[in-house]
Amino acid sequence: MKAIVSLNSGSSSIKFSLFTLDAEGTLHLSAGGKIERIGIAPSLRARSSDGKTILERDWPGGAALSHADLLRDLFAWATDHPLEGQEVVAIGHRVVHGGTEYAAPRRVDAPLLDKLEALCPLAPLHQPHNLAAIRAIAALAPDLLQVACFDTAFHHDKPAVASRLALPRAFHDQGIRRYGFHGLSYEYIARRLGEIDPALAAGRVIAAHLGNGASLCAMRAGKSVDTTMGFTALDGLMMGTRCGSIDPGVVLHLQTQLGMSATEVETLFYRESGLLGVSGISSDMRTLTASAAPQAAEAIDLFTWRAAREVAALTASLGGLDALVFTAGIGENSAEVRSRICARLDWLGVTIDEIANAGDALRIGMPDSPVAVHVIPTDEERMIALHTLHVLEGTL
Ligand code: ADP
Repeated sequence: MKAIVSLNSGSSSIKFSLFTLDAEGTLHLSAGGKIERIGIAPSLRARSSDGKTILERDWPGGAALSHADLLRDLFAWATDHPLEGQEVVAIGHRVVHGGTEYAAPRRVDAPLLDKLEALCPLAPLHQPHNLAAIRAIAALAPDLLQVACFDTAFHHDKPAVASRLALPRAFHDQGIRRYGFHGLSYEYIARRLGEIDPALAAGRVIAAHLGNGASLCAMRAGKSVDTTMGFTALDGLMMGTRCGSIDPGVVLHLQTQLGMSATEVETLFYRESGLLGVSGISSDMRTLTASAAPQAAEAIDLFTWRAAREVAALTASLGGLDALVFTAGIGENSAEVRSRICARLDWLGVTIDEIANAGDALRIGMPDSPVAVHVIPTDEERMIALHTLHVLEGTL
């Protein structure tokens, strides 16, 4: 049976999923896993789709091992333990940046890799790790089809007004513009909503991807028309450790008055701010909602206030709102956060059924709420596998 692997290679982790392809061309999740704590003490756990552990490995003292070293080990293990009857025919990768050029997934070849490499300065914390994984696999299995799936692609055709920063034109022309990210998640949500309620999916929808990274996407008829992340994945909402939108004057002040270097500002904004920075306790929403500390309450209050404010802003981009969809770790699991965001949007017609919200319901809006409210689990890995399948079919 043919199988497709989807790979999401981040700064300190590599997530992977294996999907098999049945005779009808439908993908079925067969196994998934994660290598974590890369650069510290890497460990690997993989489970089959029925929850059984199929691989556990630790590399104590492996702080110096690179993404490529770890992928090589994983590849060697997979070659020694062929999954019964399953033949990997392609690997799809999450690639954070497709720049101005790529509006759809692409088969990887040397010229594409060179172009993606040139985009590394636009996403220095993510893109190099994505590309390292592609290069590592290419060295191990040169004939295996690899497909790059871009987080920016879903937003590629949004209106020009939602892409431009108010800077002199020359900056826009050299690529300093609003791209938007989390595109694979939003594309999946648009498809799922289309299956659940096609009429709603054809309307004006805001999807709230609230995880460690968080953003919103305004969609009309399943296409992105605006989003809260911009030039980088730092813009927009408050996140686990990222500050989100911030007065650019703060950056100037930190550098000119406090003497902070660019690297120190980068660390502050990406790793020390957001829920972690405001609470001083944790970047993890579960920890904060369980905490009695006033700083935790303040961090949650700021998170939900910012999210509601941005929903209202994107509603203006859409010219109204038919549905709000929550997804990702916080959006799917925290009834409290959903409730607090919706309470601030009551005036907009977002009214939820608190009993449905506290349970496992997928539709949490009141039956007479002018705006439908849904919870839809995202599945970026499946979206990557689907794209990879489409590229594969096109090349067969
Ligand atoms: P990533 O962006 O790393 O993929 P996730 O989508 O997994 O992140 O989201 C992680 C966030 O989801 C964390 O803040 C975590 O606390 C939060 N989360 C997960 N489960 C719950 C829960 N039951 N209640 C509140 N927050 C949760």
